[in-house]
Amino acid sequence: MDLAEMQALDRQYLMPTYARYPIALERGEGTRVWDVNGKEYLDFLGGIAVNVLGHAHPAVVAAIREQAGRLLHTSNLYYTRPMLELAQLLVDNGGLGRAFFCNSGAEANEGAFKLARKYHWRRGDRARTRILSVTHAFHGRTFGALAATPKPEIQEGFGPLPPGFEAVEWGRADALAERLDGTVAAVIIEPVQGESGIHPADPAYLRAVADLTREHGALLIFDEIQCGMGRTGTFYAYQGYGVRPDILTLAKGLGGGLPIGAILATPEVASGFAPGDHGSTFGANPVACAAAVATVRTILRENLPARAAELGDYLLGRLRELAARWPDRVREVRGRGLMAALELGEHARRVLDGCHARGLLANVTAGTALRLLPPLTVTREEIDRAVEILSDAIAGV
Ligand SMILES: *Cc1c(COP(=O)(O)O)cnc(C)c1O
Repeated sequence: MDLAEMQALDRQYLMPTYARYPIALERGEGTRVWDVNGKEYLDFLGGIAVNVLGHAHPAVVAAIREQAGRLLHTSNLYYTRPMLELAQLLVDNGGLGRAFFCNSGAEANEGAFKLARKYHWRRGDRARTRILSVTHAFHGRTFGALAATPKPEIQEGFGPLPPGFEAVEWGRADALAERLDGTVAAVIIEPVQGESGIHPADPAYLRAVADLTREHGALLIFDEIQCGMGRTGTFYAYQGYGVRPDILTLAKGLGGGLPIGAILATPEVASGFAPGDHGSTFGANPVACAAAVATVRTILRENLPARAAELGDYLLGRLRELAARWPDRVREVRGRGLMAALELGEHARRVLDGCHARGLLANVTAGTALRLLPPLTVTREEIDRAVEILSDAIAGV
């Protein structure tokens, strides 16, 4: 099946929710993928921060094969080993205290909002229902997550959205302080905003947010769905900031490519949930959990967070060279670890097309930012090659 046939089938049978790039992928290995014509690409998007170990990592593939042949699914009415191994790994490496497994990022955030409200409710603090997010945030597409994502272009036409969600200005602790009172259940923040075009929080801002939420009795939720899993230089992004949330959500890279999400919370906050309060048929699926166990073990054993910090610095340095060379085209370079973006203004899409033509996968987010989320296993040589392609693509616009 070639690209044109796939495009025709897509139009005929799938809902028109995506403006896909004209590339049909067939297989991958490490940082490389091949399309249906055999053309090779360096994958610096990694399935949007999902393929943290690259494509077809042997440890992840083996774990999936082994678990799939043993037990695919049981429901949460029974105990299974992979979910317990995964919870232990996540918690013992800084994961706050208790875990709940679901299937996606939006679902993890929905569960986090439910947990925050129920926690206060159980304590008799029943006026605490408001959830504050920040401008330019992205928390997912389901109703609660969408209500916490203050972007008119993705909220429009889906109202009424659930009440109790408000956005305050990102980066300004004073703006948050003004809205905090005894009716706020939680504040949700991405330590490094992803979809907005890669904006790392200022450490002083995150510390102020943590102090303010504690002072006012609200819970702090970190959405590490994109920035977690070692990508920013520590296994959890919060560890690099030295600011501990009460609840943390993960998804994307957690399963090394399989769909899985997680809510982590301190034991105290997790006690807001009692049996029957929350659930998911597919949550804690043994195959997804086995893939996640293999992914997390590999990240920790191979010290990949430290590697992400080191290679991330290298990547940012190389990107700054491009900005110095074309100050009119590259307006800003942003990043933390292996999460990086070039601010390209109106040139973004044409630069991306140039990258695609030359064999580099990335994407444009927020309209003007070319985003790079390579696997944590990326090599210096692959970064050099990607920068060379980027450089040619920028020169070509
Ligand atoms: C991708 C993303 C989500 C949503 O995750 P889905 O799995 O697509 O539902 C939520 N928050 C952040 C920060 C994300 O990057």
